[in-house]
Amino acid sequence: MYPPHVLMVAGDATISAMETARLALDLAVTLRHDGHGGVADDLADTAGLAAWVAERAALLDGAQDLGTPDESLLAAVRELRSAVRSLFARAVRPGPPSAADAHRLLPEDEAIRRLNAAAARVPTAPRLSWEPDAPPALRDLPAGTPPAADRLTAALARAAISFLHGPDRELLRACPAPRCVRYFVKDHARQEWCTPSCGNRARVARHHERHREQRGGAPGNPSG
Ligand SMILES: [Zn+2]
Repeated sequence: MYPPHVLMVAGDATISAMETARLALDLAVTLRHDGHGGVADDLADTAGLAAWVAERAALLDGAQDLGTPDESLLAAVRELRSAVRSLFARAVRPGPPSAADAHRLLPEDEAIRRLNAAAARVPTAPRLSWEPDAPPALRDLPAGTPPAADRLTAALARAAISFLHGPDRELLRACPAPRCVRYFVKDHARQEWCTPSCGNRARVARHHERHREQRGGAPGNPSG
């Protein structure tokens, strides 16, 4: 379980720490397979970031007050994403990392420095609440009145820190299906692929591979 101090709230909604930490995975998978053998980026521009944030406004501190994201926020979120993906690559070892950015991972100490620096943009303070007939609840809330963009960046960084420190890290995998570049958290011990469609594609590819080997053909062999 996540310790209570990683709980964050947006507005008045109390969000589970697990849901919040999964924002880190959400951020990582904005780099995705484009369906044609390449890589698409949901955060390629500020419009993409605005759409991504709007879909998660309930989970993401600062989202409601943000207005239209500007270039500096886009750069901050993309920098954070490259830190998260670089540390995901470490987390999935000895398995291979996602192929999308395996060739341009950050040094781990730089990735960790970025995460911590982004989280430190907004200090938080614990707040106790104690409703009738309920146990006392502890939440960490942003202290002071930082700009919404800083709150959002810091919230994403805190989510990533919670994810990497929490139980999901050991269940993280890079999907090994052909062309897939997704990281995913295993829902059950035997899960191999991020989605059933990736599983089907991987099985078809293995089937063709076996067939080719049985016929003694190599790729490009006219008889195979
Ligand atoms: Zn996949």
